[in-house]
Amino acid sequence: MTAPLLDVRRIYAEPAAAELPRGKDVLARFPDAEVVEVLSHQAVPYTAADVDRWVRIKTEDLVLGVKKSLTARPNGRSSDFVAPSTANGCAMACAYCYVPRRKGYANPITVFTNIDKITGYLARHVGRQGVKQVPDQVDPTAWVYDIGENSDCSVDARISDNVRDLVDLFRDLPTAKASFATKHVNRDLLTWDPQGRTRIRFSLMPYADSKLLDIRTSPVAERLAAIDDFVTAGYEVHVNLSPVVVRDGWLEDWAQLLSDLDDATGPWFKAQAAAEVIFLTHNDRLHEVNLGWHPKAEEVLWRPELQQPKRSQTGGWNVRYRTGFKGQQVSALTELIAQRTPWLRVRYAF
Ligand code: SF4
Repeated sequence: MTAPLLDVRRIYAEPAAAELPRGKDVLARFPDAEVVEVLSHQAVPYTAADVDRWVRIKTEDLVLGVKKSLTARPNGRSSDFVAPSTANGCAMACAYCYVPRRKGYANPITVFTNIDKITGYLARHVGRQGVKQVPDQVDPTAWVYDIGENSDCSVDARISDNVRDLVDLFRDLPTAKASFATKHVNRDLLTWDPQGRTRIRFSLMPYADSKLLDIRTSPVAERLAAIDDFVTAGYEVHVNLSPVVVRDGWLEDWAQLLSDLDDATGPWFKAQAAAEVIFLTHNDRLHEVNLGWHPKAEEVLWRPELQQPKRSQTGGWNVRYRTGFKGQQVSALTELIAQRTPWLRVRYAF
């Protein structure tokens, strides 16, 4: 039997976060969970020994915190700005996920409960930008805010109303859009009436890669089957083709995936679709952690003969496919997209 995505037994809570209405809502949703007071959401006592309980911690633990620094960081790729997080961490366990690079040896969901401060900050930030004057690859007219850089909003929506509050906020902001990438199909979102002001980017990768690497996510076939429903429900829907993993037979598998995307979706989706294509980056510390719980994944993720290192700002070394080699692979995939899904505009590929 597959383990449930969430079976919350323990909530580490900053007292101030638990006191806020959103904190009380979350505690009420999980009345049987033990509540453990912590001084800071960043001071939950996970250690290297917890790597053995990597997935269990994601299932059973939650953290409640107050987001202190509210800033919208310029981005320019998947969005114009990265909004202040309303959560970080994830109940899913993709082997390549960069979020645990920041959080250390365990990566359960932290929910930030000062949602009113975050939505207030965002509304003011959007107001200050005025109307977008120069179209860019992100969007021709709207300022796009990524609301899920450090978590998966479709799962976050199973824990609190934070994501719904953001979708509600952007519905009424005619100069801006919210956006997030997701690997989880949460059909509750279909009733939220976003009126085109939230862009969901469904992440896709070939089935074989997803089976090995996208642990605990919704199957790729389920994501494909959901796309038209989200378009009909009023979302803008793009696809996030990432991470692209180079291995024997990878291009053939991408060809199949693109054909399946073409078959699974109708003209409404195709008329508004766009893709971002991101080749794999990895990290030496995450590699070490993964060896402790999912060594098979490392056979395709950790390929020193194809990769080059670069000092990471958050610690250790990031690796990416070697310059030159990578350019050839990017061209091969974008040419394949042009052949198989000529309707799919590539917003960027790197
Ligand atoms: S769904 Fe996203 S945030 Fe969650 S583990 Fe996978 S890559 Fe990380």
